[in-house]
Amino acid sequence: MANITEIDTSGRNGWGYTEEEVLLRQNLRAFVEKEVAPRWEEGRNFDTEEAFFREMHKKLGDMDILRIFAPVESGGLAQRLTNVGIILEELARGSAALSMHVMVNILESAWMGLVSKAAYEKWAPGIISGDIILAGCGTAPEGMANYPEQASLGRLDEKANEWVLDGQRAFSSGGQFCDVLLISGITDEGDSAMWFVEVEKTPGLTITHNPEMAVESTYGTVDFKNVRVPKEFGGLSPMVRKRKPQEFVGFKTFAVMCDWMNIGTTEAVFEKTVEYMKNRTSYFKPLASKGLIQYKLTTMKAKLVACRAMATLATQLIEHGDPAGMLVGDLSKAYVNDTCRMITDECIQMHGNLGINPKSGIIHHHLETIGFSIGAGTSDMHYDAAAALMGLPEAEFVAM
Ligand SMILES: Cc1cc2nc3c(=O)[nH]c(=O)nc-3n(C[C@H](O)[C@H](O)[C@H](O)COP(=O)(O)OP(=O)(O)OC[C@H]3O[C@@H](n4cnc5c(N)ncnc54)[C@H](O)[C@@H]3O)c2cc1C
Repeated sequence: MANITEIDTSGRNGWGYTEEEVLLRQNLRAFVEKEVAPRWEEGRNFDTEEAFFREMHKKLGDMDILRIFAPVESGGLAQRLTNVGIILEELARGSAALSMHVMVNILESAWMGLVSKAAYEKWAPGIISGDIILAGCGTAPEGMANYPEQASLGRLDEKANEWVLDGQRAFSSGGQFCDVLLISGITDEGDSAMWFVEVEKTPGLTITHNPEMAVESTYGTVDFKNVRVPKEFGGLSPMVRKRKPQEFVGFKTFAVMCDWMNIGTTEAVFEKTVEYMKNRTSYFKPLASKGLIQYKLTTMKAKLVACRAMATLATQLIEHGDPAGMLVGDLSKAYVNDTCRMITDECIQMHGNLGINPKSGIIHHHLETIGFSIGAGTSDMHYDAAAALMGLPEAEFVAM
């Protein structure tokens, strides 16, 4: 089958990848096929996940994957966001959990650099070389983007020169075995802030693992009780001021990178489904020879190309800091969310009984697309934000 990511090595393809980016994709695809895809279940199994993530984290560090987006002065390769999209898409073809883990470590270490110089200097070199694992927790019990109603999480104790954290946050990215935790929340003054702590050395922190969550086993919650963070290891982030979400194109980075993970997972499942339809017969003819099945497969392919086109445009607008990346980012996240879920749902049906057998992995990949569609904001939330950006009456901007 013609694969729209198999591109001529000159890099002069319709998607605008450079030669290095084409090579990056090829190398990662080979790595994922050989080392990740056969072990995808280890990334979602309570007994094996920590060893799996630590091993993969180190390997990806040694391959310079984790340093791709970091600035040169801190040992990074300072490549454009498009590279992060390629990495996440390719990893998600083999393991959605690993892809999510890598997104957090690449992008949240970049946030660390924006918010706390002290934290960045202390931990970023270890994160991007694959020695230190970072996890992020920012979803509040009152709702991830519900800034007006969220209880404040942190306050600055000027006398002690410390932040004091009290409250709860959810995590999905391996909080139960991370070395360093990024915490985000609202201060008592109503501004968004981030704090960075070394888990082992931080009293008052309780991490509860909830491996029963459907998508991966790396979910849970973090409780904070009088957690003290040195002032320089926290700082305001530009997301919310006085409980009002701010418009800043950089926020859409997480959402659009979730698009790439969703696309990677969905394309891998779709390719398996096409092969299955070509090989499985009914009345001695391949199922893929039937007009209705051909219609379904071709329209699924059309939708995947549309997802890729939207995510490519959104990624490029964001990497240029173009304010249009806000609206296109919201539209892309919402469209990719809904489309990938629909395609992987159809893939289950096309596999018949095998589709719902957990051993086939098809139903699990559908759950992964649901996960990517909720993580970094649901389509409802992103269409809601888009309505505000389009100036529709009474629509209120939501920052995600
Ligand atoms: C795979 C995955 C990974 C994740 N990773 C992390 C992580 O690493 N760290 C972390 O902190 N969190 C993480 N999350 C949490 C995730 O960001 C939130 O679950 C998500 O943003 C939705 O927020 P919520 O759960 O608070 O839902 P709620 O805000 O309670 O929303 C509930 C429902 O209401 C709808 N809704 C809410 N607000 C609006 C609105 N303004 N307009 C229209 N409809 C609305 C939503 O669509 C949803 O259907 C992850 C989630 C998943 C599934």
